[in-house]
Amino acid sequence: MGAEVGATEESFTSPPLNPVLEELPSHRMIRAEVDLSALAHNVEVLRGYANGAELMGVVKADAYGHGLVPVTRALAHAGVKQFAVANVQEGIELRQSGLDWPILVLSAPLSSSIPVYAQHGLRLTVSSLEIAKGVAEAASPDAPLVVHVKVDTGIHRLGIASVDVPETLDRLDALPDVTVEGIWTHCATVHDDFVYEQLGRFDEMLGGLETCPRAVHVSNSGTLLYVPEASKGRSVVRVGGALYGLIADPITGSSEIDLRPVMRLVSKVVHTQVLQPGETVSYGRTWTAERETRIATVAAGYGDGFLRALSNRGDVGIHGVLFPIIGRVCMDMLMVDLGPPQPAGKLPIVSAGDDVVLFGPGGPSAEETAVAADTLVYELTCGLTARVPKVYHL
Ligand SMILES: *Cc1c(COP(=O)(O)O)cnc(C)c1O
Repeated sequence: MGAEVGATEESFTSPPLNPVLEELPSHRMIRAEVDLSALAHNVEVLRGYANGAELMGVVKADAYGHGLVPVTRALAHAGVKQFAVANVQEGIELRQSGLDWPILVLSAPLSSSIPVYAQHGLRLTVSSLEIAKGVAEAASPDAPLVVHVKVDTGIHRLGIASVDVPETLDRLDALPDVTVEGIWTHCATVHDDFVYEQLGRFDEMLGGLETCPRAVHVSNSGTLLYVPEASKGRSVVRVGGALYGLIADPITGSSEIDLRPVMRLVSKVVHTQVLQPGETVSYGRTWTAERETRIATVAAGYGDGFLRALSNRGDVGIHGVLFPIIGRVCMDMLMVDLGPPQPAGKLPIVSAGDDVVLFGPGGPSAEETAVAADTLVYELTCGLTARVPKVYHL
């Protein structure tokens, strides 16, 4: 199964959207709500940035924790026509779900896994001379391979050195059962001029080629949003986080970007109480009440992937108001400071059963929570555990 070599766009089908799960049984406390209309909105916005280049939807790591198959189906419905995953297993899962659009595996194969690419019609990244050799040995009329050559222009993670690219392309082009569809590189940063150094190296290498593969790609989300030169004239951009409305490492002071958050992590208040001055909260007694304080216990913790680094750091949203997390985040629970026992002014009355937005609309943004935890926003959504059910809204 899988995409045939040389298949045309018309031969691929968009699988149906998953049924929308509106409600969880009332005993379920925590849920990750995934807004598929926000995802479709972000596709449109990013098309604007891509300036004619096709979006390759990066859906690795369970679509950054949003759910591999439902998200990929929704992206296909929004008109995304090619996808990227990190490893072969993720590609196989997409094929088994019925998705037959092109899928590029970004990471490096071991030679023993190359035949699996052919079997499932997955595009392979040639990121070393050894892999090029492995491709030459594995490809056959029964097991044709479509490859993208990855060039290392300075990230020093994977990739072929620029000087070795022309010869590698010549060798691959000479193989009857191998199609060299793409050539790409990956940028290490968008925060300093090194990105222009990388672009310069890549373009110089491309300029020296006799024939260039059809698909040329450089940009990930940050590069697409902040370095327009990187996408100009390219045929494809590889976009992950921005699809989900997540901006890793935002450049402060840059213009507003109209992306919508796709995920909202919601749990519930399970207990409230009033503490007297001097009383402490949670393991290790790292928070002490300075005045009479009402607190709520929320059914979420690091067992759900809600980071312990948020102890005494982050906020949560209840009835649209932000309340600080107090004391250590536990495996299954965390506590928040609701203020004085008789809420004054605009503060809402909070009681057991109320929704608590851990991040997303109605609470802090995922980016704000990530900053409080001193991490990258991707780690928040990727790190949710199997205990958190996902609920999809159209
Ligand atoms: C993950 C990844 C991307 C997507 O990155 P985002 O910043 O999420 O857009 C693109 N290219 C490569 C090689 C990647 O590993």
